[in-house]
Amino acid sequence: MSTATETKRFEAEVQEVLSLVIHSLYAHREIFLRELISNASDALDRLRFESLTDPDLDPEGETLGIALEVDPQARELRIADAGIGMSRDELVANLGTVASSGTRHFLEELRAQGAERAPELIGQFGVGFYSAFMVADRVTVETRRAGQQQGWRWSSDGSGEYTIEEAEGLARGTVITLRLKEDDEQAGEFLSEWRLREVVSRYSDFVEYPIQMEVERTQPVLDDEGKPIEGETESVRELATLNSMKPLWARPKDNISEQEYGEFYHHLTHDWGEPLETIHFHAEGTLEYTALLYLPKEPPLDFFDPTRNASSTSLYVKRVLIVRDCEDLLPAWLRFVRGVVESNDLPLNVSRETLQDDPRVRQIRKRLVKKVLETMQAMLADERERYEGFWRSFGSVVKEGIHYGQDEDGRISGLCLFQSSEQQGWTTLGEYVERMAEGQEAIHVITGPSRKVVEASPHLETLSAEGQEVLFMLDPVDEWVLESLREFDGVRVRRIDRGEVDVADDEAKARRQERAEELSDLLSAIQAALADDVKEVRFGGRLKDSAAVLVSDEHALTAQMERLLRRSGRELPKQKRILELNSEHPLVEGLKRLYDVDAESPRIAEYAELLLGQALIAEGSPIEDPARFTRLVTELMVAGVKS
Ligand code: ADP
Ligand code: MG
Repeated sequence: MSTATETKRFEAEVQEVLSLVIHSLYAHREIFLRELISNASDALDRLRFESLTDPDLDPEGETLGIALEVDPQARELRIADAGIGMSRDELVANLGTVASSGTRHFLEELRAQGAERAPELIGQFGVGFYSAFMVADRVTVETRRAGQQQGWRWSSDGSGEYTIEEAEGLARGTVITLRLKEDDEQAGEFLSEWRLREVVSRYSDFVEYPIQMEVERTQPVLDDEGKPIEGETESVRELATLNSMKPLWARPKDNISEQEYGEFYHHLTHDWGEPLETIHFHAEGTLEYTALLYLPKEPPLDFFDPTRNASSTSLYVKRVLIVRDCEDLLPAWLRFVRGVVESNDLPLNVSRETLQDDPRVRQIRKRLVKKVLETMQAMLADERERYEGFWRSFGSVVKEGIHYGQDEDGRISGLCLFQSSEQQGWTTLGEYVERMAEGQEAIHVITGPSRKVVEASPHLETLSAEGQEVLFMLDPVDEWVLESLREFDGVRVRRIDRGEVDVADDEAKARRQERAEELSDLLSAIQAALADDVKEVRFGGRLKDSAAVLVSDEHALTAQMERLLRRSGRELPKQKRILELNSEHPLVEGLKRLYDVDAESPRIAEYAELLLGQALIAEGSPIEDPARFTRLVTELMVAGVKS
């Protein structure tokens, strides 16, 4: 009693992916097989996982595997699994729409980068199924969901529509049939055993289920005593397993080559590059587990997508994948770490919800964090250049750990790299402390958008003249880091654009005090002129060559933080800061003369405005009315040229 075949259109985004896959991708077309096998393997994982809570689904004595089958006459390749299968609704949702935001990224990246990088992108963004259309002009999916009676047949030529109908007599699981493109030699290769063997062993060797295929083998004919008869052979068909299956992490470390570690990394991440570091260890004692973790060289393309999972490390119990990308194994600030953890001491039915509170999982997590930090530490000590590359890729993520209060004993801050006024390259806080000038009491830091801007900042003038080094914190996340990073190695961390700077020189201090009293009327006049924009006008000790600089109160937002918050769309009340003037500057002296001649002169307010404008420009902030500022400067210049 089969109902009619229904024809449906793919969602627009799927159509876009399909047309790219069909019309633009020619390199590495063999990865379609990796994608379909990985889906089959996922389907088997899910069957095992669901049968933990639903014994009716238990495959009991069955050997779970993946079968490849070819039919050269029909030019067909079939990939079959006895996994979880799909219901009708799942078929429509999984193969007709794009649920993941990853696919949208995929499309954006493809448009931006061109099709050459598409195979890597396909792997990373999980539009894997559609890659079948690189080699096939028709794809048919026959599937029956575990626990359901009705099976379904889905079919498409990839051109915009697919059909879906009831199918009778299907076994549990999914069979995908590809009709390989006619007149396409490369596609035709996937009918041959050697090509399938090659691709499986290159991309799918570590899949945990046997990938099997019936192969033809010629063997000598044996006589009655079991000895080969010379010159006589026969061909037999037998089932061959094409992959080695052994999960690499379970093998002893000494027996694993660099190359095998690399291949497993490719298998795990679909990243075609080599890992930067490999961490593999087996823990024994009260809790036994094995971890195989990798630090990648570069972030995956969707790494900074806020909807991305905050983990790339999966948890296995007795070879069953319990949680893919398990957020409880590593903190989010180590989310770039990719890998696998297996513990047979955890119960198979451990639920995702209780993982977080499980003391065993916390114990594992603690150890994993320690191992990763130790690896980073060793790299920093022994291979500085490599570490700097790593830091460029992931430093801003690592630093989040400080913000989230996990920097016990400076274990994270000790690994941070920063730019500095005295060094061209990177420096650590430890190295900075060692270089500190005699009598220097704090680690001086300034935040800002670029080295160029902070280097030119008036805030540095006095410190530079005194030979004191300033750390440049140029990463947006540094603002948040500094909220928590109050000291390192017992030395206070001090933001030089905040609060008052105490110059060592008492004499200078006294002189400044004197000037402030002398010029208090002028300061009040300037302050009155700028009342809408600044909180206070005062003389300060930071400046040497510049006339003015803006500083924040000890606890107020700094200029960089303010910029970042505004850029992120936050509505902020106007932040009034303090305008610090250099009491020794000739301009101040000039202003005083002007004031003495005519305390009511409109020039005083204009000069005040110019001073404020300069201070804003110097720190990289926008000025409120650039047109007016330019006019005032021009007038000043004209006056200068005339006199
Ligand atoms: P991904 O594997 O990253 O989710 P794919 O495009 O490869 O993306 O597959 C889309 C979805 O289709 C899968 O998430 C899965 O739900 C479903 N699917 C694909 N192949 C199978 C299969 N052999 N058995 C069961 N479900 C499958
Ligand atoms: Mg997939």
